[in-house]
Amino acid sequence: MRIDEIELRVVRLPYRTPFKTSFANETKKIAVLVTVRSEGVEGYGEGVMDPLPMYREETIAGATGLMRGALCPDLFAYGCEHPGELYDRWAHWRGNPMAKASVELAVWDCYARQQGVPLRTLLGGDRTEILVGASLGMNPVEQTVESVQRHVAEGYRRVKLKIEPGWDREMMSAVRAAEPEIELSVDANSAYTLADTELLQSFDEYHLHYIEQPLHWDDLTDHAALAALLRTPICLDESLTSPARVKAALDLGACSVVNVKVGRFGGIAAVQRVHDLCVTRQVPMWCGGMLETGIGRAHNIHIATMPGFVYPGDTASASRTYARDIVEQSLEAVNGIMQVPAGPGIGVTLDRPFLDTVTESVEVLRP
Ligand SMILES: [Mg+2]
Repeated sequence: MRIDEIELRVVRLPYRTPFKTSFANETKKIAVLVTVRSEGVEGYGEGVMDPLPMYREETIAGATGLMRGALCPDLFAYGCEHPGELYDRWAHWRGNPMAKASVELAVWDCYARQQGVPLRTLLGGDRTEILVGASLGMNPVEQTVESVQRHVAEGYRRVKLKIEPGWDREMMSAVRAAEPEIELSVDANSAYTLADTELLQSFDEYHLHYIEQPLHWDDLTDHAALAALLRTPICLDESLTSPARVKAALDLGACSVVNVKVGRFGGIAAVQRVHDLCVTRQVPMWCGGMLETGIGRAHNIHIATMPGFVYPGDTASASRTYARDIVEQSLEAVNGIMQVPAGPGIGVTLDRPFLDTVTESVEVLRP
């Protein structure tokens, strides 16, 4: 592929309701949309960096700087035979997986559109629908129970609660009392330490599907120590930043479930390696979410068609998050099942008039 033009667009899209986790209370999505134009075809990627480093260490300013200064000039200079080659080609620029993924995803979408096939076909994804769950932000107990029951009534197979110290047992007890059978998991986003081991052990009674990232956001060894003391499986999210980190986590016994976020791993080629490793070791994986707009959401849906994704992911209905999305297709789950958008690439098109109203800045780069 010859790359003719790359557009970096920053959009600001308000959430329907604020999303509270142990590390932030967010009211809007600020996303970087990357459009790659090649020989008359364009493809889209979405960056999941935040303005400030609240989740991992990357920021929008740093990531767009790397795109402008290195990733885009590299694509203009050398083009691309196949998008699967970019992860290794860019490995000499260390880290920065979200920046790299933003551009790589756009190249994958563009390449699939040029081939006239859905992205999932390039990934070996045979499914045309995927199982999805819902991730609920922190709200008062009564409101949380009501929200869980509403999602169960809508057919979601799995519900995930965000927890932190002081905001855990009471809520889990209430939810379990109301919904004894539902597949329930919790996500602590690094809010605990090994000093909380007894408290974390007490969560075993709620027969959680897994507990996600209980300890420090960059840790493996403390998680391995904790895993040996819990019956509840540990799933890692923040700590897994590359295929090599996933291998290290599994070798150490730090987790027995893997949350895949394409931005955190550095793109689809990295996800493919993580996928194959987890399949070989029979480790269940699922596709996480970062409250993406329709572009990132569509990528996640295609990625989750790969056969190793055996647990429901976080890629729930777009309307849970946004009153109006920036794509023309509605990405809605019915009975906990999401159809994979049909058509070439990621299968969605931009709602351009609306996109312009939520755009903060646009920058077009050329060779
Ligand atoms: Mg998480």
